[in-house]
Amino acid sequence: MSATGSEAYPLPQPTTFTRPFWEACQNRQLGVAVCRNCGHRFMPGAPNCPQCWSGDPDFQSVSGRGEVVSFAVYRRTYHPAIPAPYVVALVQLEEGPRMISNIVECAPEAVAIGIRVEVCFQSEAGFLLPRFVPVGTGSTDPSISSPART
Ligand SMILES: [Zn+2]
Repeated sequence: MSATGSEAYPLPQPTTFTRPFWEACQNRQLGVAVCRNCGHRFMPGAPNCPQCWSGDPDFQSVSGRGEVVSFAVYRRTYHPAIPAPYVVALVQLEEGPRMISNIVECAPEAVAIGIRVEVCFQSEAGFLLPRFVPVGTGSTDPSISSPART
C-alpha cells in the first residue's frame, strides 16, 4: 500500500523564527533562541524576547540534556504515521527552556517525572526531528543518532 498525503508523517513547517531551530536539528544540534539584551533563553523562536521584549534574538546551541517534568503515554493511534503507544513529554533543558518532544528507545512504563534524558535525532521522511532518550540507554537502532559534539 502506498502512502497518501494523509498517511505521511506530519513534518514541521518552519517559520522565520523557528527556522534556525529546525536547521540546527538537520545538523544534529539542539538550539534555542537567546536574547541579545538580557540573555534569556527561550523556545520556540519568536521576534521578541518574552522576558524583556527586546527584538532581534540570537540563536545558540545547547547541551541537549534535560529532565522530564511532565509526560503522557498515548495508547491510541491518532495519526496513521504515528502508531501508539508513544510518549509525549515536557522536557526541561539544562539551559532553562522547556520543550515538548517524544521519549523514545524505552518502554513507556520506563518514563517518569524527574528522569534524565538526552536528545537524539530521528529521521522522518529525511527530516531530522529532536527526540529524547533516557540517559544511559544504549541505542542500537541505526535510525537513532546522537547529537553532534563540538
Ligand atoms: Zn530579553
